[in-house]
Amino acid sequence: RCVMAQDDCLFCKIVKGEVPAEIVREGERTLAFRDINPQAPTHVLVIPREHVRDAASAAAADAGLVDEIVREARAVAESEGVAETGYRLVFNTGSGAGQTVFHLHAHLLGGRGLNWPPG
Ligand code: 5GP
Ligand code: ZN
Repeated sequence: RCVMAQDDCLFCKIVKGEVPAEIVREGERTLAFRDINPQAPTHVLVIPREHVRDAASAAAADAGLVDEIVREARAVAESEGVAETGYRLVFNTGSGAGQTVFHLHAHLLGGRGLNWPPG
């Protein structure tokens, strides 16, 4: 299966093993690893192995992929022990919303109280 890696993409490099990451779960089409700058006791990024720019293009191109990311996030939440207490999934979509890495990722945040709205 062809995975369209982008040479200049940090998360593609993590998928290829060219940049180290603390991987917590590997799926057929996904990878989950700890955020380098955690904002909660559990802060894991769940990404597709293939390069997809953001949640908007993922939904347009392959809705099944988003399903799989949400399923993988649930499995990580269970193994991290935050499934019961609650966790937050965030897809920052576009630079105006704080997206800095343009390879689709779900932030999985848990292990502390999370305010809403986030601000
Ligand atoms: P965004 O702001 O695009 O939604 O989130 C990007 C996330 O990637 C940030 O939370 C940031 O801490 C994380 N990040 C940036 N560089 C690295 C890295 O090299 N390794 C890991 N594990 N996380 C990273
Ligand atoms: Zn990429």
